[in-house]
Amino acid sequence: MLLQLRRAILILCLAGGVIGGVTYAAEKPNIVLFLVDDMGWQDTSVPFHNEVTPFNRRYRTPNMKKLAAAGMKFTQAYACSVCSPTRVSLMTGLNAARHRVTNWTLRRNASNDRRHPGLEFPKWNVNGLSPEPGIERTIHATALPAVLKRAGYRTIHAGKAHFGAVGTPGADPRNVGFDVNIGGHAAGGPGSYLGTQNFSAVWRRGDRVWDVPGLEQYHGKDVFLTEALTIEANKAVDRAVADGKPFFLYMAHYAVHVPFAPDERFYQKYRDAGLDHTEAMYAALVEGMDKSLGDILANVERHGLTDNTIVLFMSDNGGLSAHGRGGKPHTHNKPLSSGKGSAHEGGVRVPVIAKWPGVTQPGSACNRYVIIEDFFPAILEMAGVEDFQQVGGVMDGVSFVPLLRQAEGDPNDRALFWHYPNNWGPNGPGIGPSSSIRRGDWKLIYYHEDQRYELFNLAEDLGEQRNLADENPEVRERLASQLGQFLVSVGALMPLDKRASRPVSLPGQRNE
Ligand code: CA
Repeated sequence: MLLQLRRAILILCLAGGVIGGVTYAAEKPNIVLFLVDDMGWQDTSVPFHNEVTPFNRRYRTPNMKKLAAAGMKFTQAYACSVCSPTRVSLMTGLNAARHRVTNWTLRRNASNDRRHPGLEFPKWNVNGLSPEPGIERTIHATALPAVLKRAGYRTIHAGKAHFGAVGTPGADPRNVGFDVNIGGHAAGGPGSYLGTQNFSAVWRRGDRVWDVPGLEQYHGKDVFLTEALTIEANKAVDRAVADGKPFFLYMAHYAVHVPFAPDERFYQKYRDAGLDHTEAMYAALVEGMDKSLGDILANVERHGLTDNTIVLFMSDNGGLSAHGRGGKPHTHNKPLSSGKGSAHEGGVRVPVIAKWPGVTQPGSACNRYVIIEDFFPAILEMAGVEDFQQVGGVMDGVSFVPLLRQAEGDPNDRALFWHYPNNWGPNGPGIGPSSSIRRGDWKLIYYHEDQRYELFNLAEDLGEQRNLADENPEVRERLASQLGQFLVSVGALMPLDKRASRPVSLPGQRNE
């Protein structure tokens, strides 16, 4: 009787609990969030299109293939078109129009908007994410790892952080809830990928602000950054396991962002296959990233934790294509149009794979769309955190756990929104200050410079070649109105039209 009572109490204790005001389920799965920087939708041997493309044949990502065979791939997953908005949405569950970190961040109080002849850009949150209130030009929010830490996780950051500007609390991943920081800081790219160059920008006479922090034990050694981060991430996982802690590993690679460098382990075979120097370096960066995925998952397997570890794979924006690549610009994400920095699919559609043992069906595909802010509530649901409230009490993301369970629902009924009242720099299809909405098969883009619309039917025209805005005024106006209402509801900032000396009109309220 006493034994039974003890057992009942033990079961009750294991069934859940409350730590720091957050309720958690007892059986906490480990979570690996593997985020690649600037990786395009086609930069993999896993086909995310409905056919195998020439790019799928070019890139070699055997470990992604293995992961996709064991889990579910999302063929219509979206991020923002550049780094910081995506990363802040991922960390907060908020849409970029609401958190206002709409462009990439680096220095305190300094905007990285390229000057524009007709527009002046609004006072967006150039200092990024802040865990504390009262820091100027930041979004004050509770970041994902802080919630997971309170729920009992060992939270491990490895690689590129890029959450907050230099000299603000958000610059250090440990201030936003990570127990461990390996190589992360304010900058959104590495000084160098090479240990022989100390991962520093000195080789290119670059600003030392880009130097990857930590990792001194690899300085002067012939080791690629991707590999060094992987080795250190695995050690941090080993320590979490030894300490009996569930872990959240945020493996956020600097790869495959510029400045490219030849990863000699893989480079030559792409040259032999006929790629030019730049494209061979890029393909080798992709394969090195894939090796890292394999090494991380092999370490999880070595600990016997594969069945209790959720793996999420994703990229933070589309593949770079406007400059810095070999071959013709704006073609590197085909069949998608354009690339990083663009509102077109090449800029925002990213490869996503999710594997949740016992939940996702092996080798399955989800064709419903999801967006970056959805990861926050989805990951909390996976971790069994039930009663979390973001600062301000709102959450834009919607958990995609029902999709992982293949629950029924109205396909593509919700609208997705992007807002980029900023100037990245290069020109090209879909590149420029804009707001956009996707609903069902339709996508409407509103360009702030000239209040022009592009309307595409993605089911019929994935490559966004036929602008139907004039042919379908009814769809155009309906979506424009919904987009305008959303921007008002989240307090979105619009650029100033310098010629008219007033803010650019909201979509659906165009000045005729
Ligand atoms: Ca990026």
